[in-house]
Amino acid sequence: MSRGGRGREKGAAAPSRPAEPGPLPPPGLGLAGAPCPLPAPAGEREAAVAAPGAGCGAERPPVSGCPGLPAAGLPPGAAKVPQASAMKRSDPHHPQHRHRDGGDGGAGREAMVSPDGTVTEAPRTVKKIQFADQKQEFNKRPTKIGRRSLSRSISQSSTDSYSSAASYTDSSDDETSPRDKQQKNSKGSSDFCVKNIKQAEFGRREIEIAEQEMPALMALRKRAQGEKPLAGAKIVGCTHITAQTAVLMETLGALGAQCRWAACNIYSTLNEVAAALAESGFPVFAWKGESEDDFWWCIDRCVNVEGWQPNMILDDGGDLTHWIYKKYPNMFKKIKGIVEESVTGVHRLYQLSKAGKLCVPAMNVNDSVTKQKFDNLYCCRESILDGLKRTTDMMFGGKQVVVCGYGEVGKGCCAALKAMGSIVYVTEIDPICALQACMDGFRLVKLNEVIRQVDIVITCTGNKNVVTREHLDRMKNSCIVCNMGHSNTEIDVASLRTPELTWERVRSQVDHVIWPDGKRIVLLAEGRLLNLSCSTVPTFVLSITATTQALALIELYNAPEGRYKQDVYLLPKKMDEYVASLHLPTFDAHLTELTDEQAKYLGLNKNGPFKPNYYRCWF
Ligand code: NAD
Repeated sequence: MSRGGRGREKGAAAPSRPAEPGPLPPPGLGLAGAPCPLPAPAGEREAAVAAPGAGCGAERPPVSGCPGLPAAGLPPGAAKVPQASAMKRSDPHHPQHRHRDGGDGGAGREAMVSPDGTVTEAPRTVKKIQFADQKQEFNKRPTKIGRRSLSRSISQSSTDSYSSAASYTDSSDDETSPRDKQQKNSKGSSDFCVKNIKQAEFGRREIEIAEQEMPALMALRKRAQGEKPLAGAKIVGCTHITAQTAVLMETLGALGAQCRWAACNIYSTLNEVAAALAESGFPVFAWKGESEDDFWWCIDRCVNVEGWQPNMILDDGGDLTHWIYKKYPNMFKKIKGIVEESVTGVHRLYQLSKAGKLCVPAMNVNDSVTKQKFDNLYCCRESILDGLKRTTDMMFGGKQVVVCGYGEVGKGCCAALKAMGSIVYVTEIDPICALQACMDGFRLVKLNEVIRQVDIVITCTGNKNVVTREHLDRMKNSCIVCNMGHSNTEIDVASLRTPELTWERVRSQVDHVIWPDGKRIVLLAEGRLLNLSCSTVPTFVLSITATTQALALIELYNAPEGRYKQDVYLLPKKMDEYVASLHLPTFDAHLTELTDEQAKYLGLNKNGPFKPNYYRCWF
């Protein structure tokens, strides 16, 4: 989840109209008054024939009989991201367009593509296995110590997207690598590799809990009864393996897809959830604490299978896509599309596209409006309190807080703290956001004006050195300093690593930095993103992402020939609206339907899309 990189550009020109407008959407079946593109009426299904994969010099096989979702797809003004603007949005060197945990000097996973567009080593602190010797490398199994040290190096890299992983059953007693174990599920299958299949029952309960907060996926399952929009789809996935992902995978299965899955992060796998998935027949290759060698081995086990070839990719970070490009480029002859979730992976795709090397259509789900809104505003509104509470046990009422930056994240933080009775000051550089802060009842100040008196300083700008050593010197005793914005660049933490200051680690993620006169400040997560470091992400937020991923897969899989070329696309607006509509019943929300007269007056289709593509719902 990401954001500067994912965030919309302030003041950016409205995206141009799509190059390839599709037919009008079909009449929806309606859910909470909203159009439902699943499944499309039989008469409106289009026999989908994949476009020749020009970049690969390969023809993809025709696909027929797959109900589209929606059959119409691209409404005017939707979907295609003009490449130039897309590149600009993803420019990792633009201060507001970086991966949110991939900052300077950090171990982020951004800009992993060389200037000529080829995918190269990620600029993270790990070395990847040499592709040429991959088989040999797999046979040369690392020692336990080797595994651990590799794991350690990767661990810093995989914060590109959310995972609310927290395992309750991990047993450190069992040091045996899953690769050394012979395990079978109750149906006798051994086509998986997880830590301990016996944890399946516990994992199942975790999945059932997640289902409660993922209403849209559950609704998709119900709606698909009888219709299988993913029948014939063979999806290879590489994402965090958590209870929420399990709900997504099982939904894809219910929609007709076959799935094989690996983890995109060596630490985020919930072993019990992986076990539950393996028990219910999903070939899952993942466990918490994989080494780097394990990581690639697991990905390879997903794609290098006799008698099974993927025709869709669901990736989070681009490693799976990268692996297939390097090791099995011929697979792209059958692959109909890539759905990518992270800023990093999206950036890699845009680079490939720019270099003319993207041989299949790709869907950038990271930048869909609904997802962005949830990641930045609503998620931060909740997780700022969670992060502060867990680390400091503080009471918010009456505390003086300064929030730097009144964009999406800043607005969320301010709203939450105001609601708790804090006195909130805002700093801004943009007069429009500054005026919004004033209109919302916050005092707009310069940081210098309040730095001596505030109890908490929170940065949310996506900028660098917003809080400098000078500010830190002037803070009062016990002032809490934390960051919700880009990586660890916003607070000049490096300036605190000087001999005259003493650092005391008082809790996990909590440091006291002590001045010679005894003054101390409380630095959280060493200036990295507070919520990602110290709190969990609400399942409902992940539900939005997972639903967007599912719809993007369905759309790409069923798209008729010519709708998508070898380029990177945003989810059609109408489907973004559909993701939102699927979440409305949770709140017993009743959506108003346009009358024919009103629709005509506004020039809209009654079933949406309801806003032009350039409309920004950010404020
Ligand atoms: P945004 O662009 O909407 O808001 C950032 C605001 O900061 C802008 O209004 C900008 O004018 C202001 N700003 C820039 N420099 C400033 C300075 N020196 N002093 C005061 N204000 C300044 O972006 P956003 O969506 O709010 O995201 C902000 C950051 O948070 C990004 O880095 C993003 O990647 C990150 N982010 C974090 C999370 C999270 O979960 N913690 C979620 C989403 C985004």
